[in-house]
Amino acid sequence: MHELSICNALIEEAQNEVRRSGRTGRIRRIDLTIGRLSGVSCDSLRFAFDLLKPGTDLEDARMAIAEPKATCYCRTCNARVEIDDYVMQCPECFGGNIAIEGGRDLLLESIEIED
Ligand SMILES: [Zn+2]
Repeated sequence: MHELSICNALIEEAQNEVRRSGRTGRIRRIDLTIGRLSGVSCDSLRFAFDLLKPGTDLEDARMAIAEPKATCYCRTCNARVEIDDYVMQCPECFGGNIAIEGGRDLLLESIEIED
């Protein structure tokens, strides 16, 4: 489960961010963006988070995940269609001249700290 190492990295990143900001309150919540095409399972990530957070600055933190969809743009018919999974052809005209946009992000968007 590579979500464990991803989660580890996210926890590290969040702790480093907070230390760098000089704030000392407990971390209440972290907001993540995980694109549908990033290959990361949000369920596994939540599971990993609960497993890893004890003993870290994120012990009491909640993890909120936004899961933006990707878009398939077709150069043949100019259709722009939201997709959950990779596609090989345009969902509208079934042409193969397409570009997949977005959906691959894996970001720590924000950290909420208790005052
Ligand atoms: Zn098309």
